[in-house]
Amino acid sequence: MYPAVTSPGQIISLLKSKGLRPCKARGQNFLIDANIARKIVEEAGLSAADVVVEIGPGLGALTWELAQRARQVIGVEIDRNLVQVLREVLAGQPNVSLVEGDALKIDFDELVGKTLGIEGRGRLPAYKVVANLPYYITSPLLNHLLSSDFHIDRLVLMLQLEVAERLVARPGTKDYGMLTVFTQYFAEIQWVMYVPRTVFFPRPEVDSAVVRLYKRSHPPVEVGDEEFFFRVVRASFSKRRKILPNALKELAGGREAVFKALDTAGIAPFRRGETLSLEEFAKLSRCLKNELG
Ligand code: SAM
Repeated sequence: MYPAVTSPGQIISLLKSKGLRPCKARGQNFLIDANIARKIVEEAGLSAADVVVEIGPGLGALTWELAQRARQVIGVEIDRNLVQVLREVLAGQPNVSLVEGDALKIDFDELVGKTLGIEGRGRLPAYKVVANLPYYITSPLLNHLLSSDFHIDRLVLMLQLEVAERLVARPGTKDYGMLTVFTQYFAEIQWVMYVPRTVFFPRPEVDSAVVRLYKRSHPPVEVGDEEFFFRVVRASFSKRRKILPNALKELAGGREAVFKALDTAGIAPFRRGETLSLEEFAKLSRCLKNELG
């Protein structure tokens, strides 16, 4: 039997029987298409040895599929009521453990270690993250998952379409921005598929897309001071219609240092930040740091 709850009728009657309703503030738009659920899980390329963390399992549309393929699935769900409902829905799946918690605050390595009974981070296996994300936490969650040194090697995420487009954007396009540079610095990103809003209940106001991220073991570019690099990128995009000497003059204490750094980096001074590749941002940041001493 396929136990996942994947039709509006099932969702309504299950929630109603517990006196619950989907909570908009928690981004509760449940996936109601079993084929898409299967496809998302397939895209994670799981083997029977894999450990998967699912963020926001909700009523389990992805969880059951994950449990058929992985060694262990650990669901982190913020809504206590849904944790209880899902425990009932998934009773009999010995390789699923559900934790009530806020994914933004969880130390995922600690959680995986505790679930597997492994002491010491060094002995943790690399694990995967799969999620149909609540849209309101996307940026802080990417930050939490990617800039940490968690032992995550791959993530398959369903996101709001516009955000997914920003993650895979190329320099010089309207979608290219701080989030693009940040994410591409920490992960290699692949577009998986577009997902229409019609396959969720309640239906959200936006479409979605699935992306796959391979977390990098080393940054793809040499930035020197990482914190300074991200300050340069942020400043460049916060005034994205300005040419770089104007966008960066406050950060650099004047335009002179920016002109010199651009010259050393071999970047034309009339360029805007939105046209710079990751490599060029790295070069500019190193040269500017040198100029500033
Ligand atoms: N995975 C289910 C599905 O595909 O049908 C539900 C997806 S729904 C878009 C997002 C889920 O994330 C909801 O169950 C919601 O309660 C949960 N959630 C929201 N904020 C969360 C947070 N900060 N940490 C963990 N779970 C969260």
